[in-house]
Amino acid sequence: MTVRVRFAPSPTGMFHVGGARSALQNWIYAKQQGGVFVLRIEDTDVARNKPEWTEGILSALDWIGISRGSYEGPYFQSANAGEHRAAAARLYESGRAYYCDCTREDVQARTGSQYQGYDGYHRDLGLGPGPGHALRFRTPDEGATVVVDLIRGEPTFENKLIEDFVIARGDGSPVFLLANVVDDMTMGITHVIRAEEHLPNTPKQQLLWEALGVKPPIWAHVPVVVNEKRQKLSKRRDKVALEAYRDEGYLAGAMRNYLMLLGWAPSGDREIVPWSVIEDEFRLEEVNLSSAFFDEKKLRAFNGEYIRALPVAEFIDACQPWLAGTGTIAPPPWQPEEFDADAFAAVAPLAQTRIAVLSEIVPNVDFLFLASPLMDEAAWTKTMKDGSADLLDAAIAAFDALESWDAESLKSTLEAVGADRGLKLGKTQAPVRVAVTGRTIGLPLFESLEVLGRERTLTRMRAARVRLV
Ligand code: GLU
Repeated sequence: MTVRVRFAPSPTGMFHVGGARSALQNWIYAKQQGGVFVLRIEDTDVARNKPEWTEGILSALDWIGISRGSYEGPYFQSANAGEHRAAAARLYESGRAYYCDCTREDVQARTGSQYQGYDGYHRDLGLGPGPGHALRFRTPDEGATVVVDLIRGEPTFENKLIEDFVIARGDGSPVFLLANVVDDMTMGITHVIRAEEHLPNTPKQQLLWEALGVKPPIWAHVPVVVNEKRQKLSKRRDKVALEAYRDEGYLAGAMRNYLMLLGWAPSGDREIVPWSVIEDEFRLEEVNLSSAFFDEKKLRAFNGEYIRALPVAEFIDACQPWLAGTGTIAPPPWQPEEFDADAFAAVAPLAQTRIAVLSEIVPNVDFLFLASPLMDEAAWTKTMKDGSADLLDAAIAAFDALESWDAESLKSTLEAVGADRGLKLGKTQAPVRVAVTGRTIGLPLFESLEVLGRERTLTRMRAARVRLV
């Protein structure tokens, strides 16, 4: 039997990192089993769906390594509406479902103040279809539903505790529970790997599989992803959109490596490993039962390591969207014609060791491409002290007299200027750095000045000196 798994997101918002993790787990499982990965867009919640969310899912999956064309689909749940209705009709005709027109208030009035679920009132009343008549599944009175879950063993649910749940609304439209089952059935899904939040749906869904006469799939419910307060990641509170991480300059390789570590670890105390190792070693059965902490700080550190591991040429390529301001990323402060690829290439290795996400490249190199630096006024005030004017005068004169404009000469020259005034290099550098780059921190100063060039460096130092008068 060929293993067939599916990833079935609903296009109701940005693509959640938890969803990306489930997608990767499904992807790897299919690959390991020589199976098929199916993508199904569950777009039946018309009020909440938007086509751009679907496009967002496809492009985010593509970015993370589940590329278009390499899986089956995308299928759209809405295209199967006929099948969903036919299944509801079959369940009704076979007596496995019945119509009911009770409101919640009706049930409450009969059963007491607290609504504890539907009381089965219409089970044997023989109500037929009609406007406002919901179709309910007749759950067994006895026995238990045992689901086979690769991560959780065999969770068992007493049937008598499962209410006669709705499978089609009063307007005849089938609900998610049924549509999801019918699609899995139609698509020949053998393994349903999804988030733990769907576990309560699972006994109901398994009963539907059985009632429709098809062997249920094997399930795997992966624990939820939580924030540092152990709250389920929420799009209102937390940064959850995969696209947001992509646009900030996380590398897809770092992101997918990190996502796979949520609730699982490769052998040998390693965390940063090639994707091929994860594909070999990952075992769905080993996924931890406790919720997984999505640690943005750790992800950042991971990303920094991935950035540092890139060959410089690839690093330069990877920075291009941020340097050019393409796509959804905020444009850099310089004009496209001010950008100088050679100057960038000269400082790229210095920047590569210092940034953790690619978008940070912009503030590190903007001084190279702007006519005058973007001055951080707080940095100016903090740095420019009484002796700064004198220091700048001496540094300007000494730099101006330099024969060779290279980092080493610049360094020894400024060191000497500082030494004459009893200053260490760090203190001597600070006003020069602020004058030239507008910031107190950045790339190594002397290499920066070498690339910036004599004329521009001196112009900026003189402008700062004028400001100090
Ligand atoms: N559309 C559902 C969701 O996004 C999928 C549930 C499932 O995987 O069965 O939560």
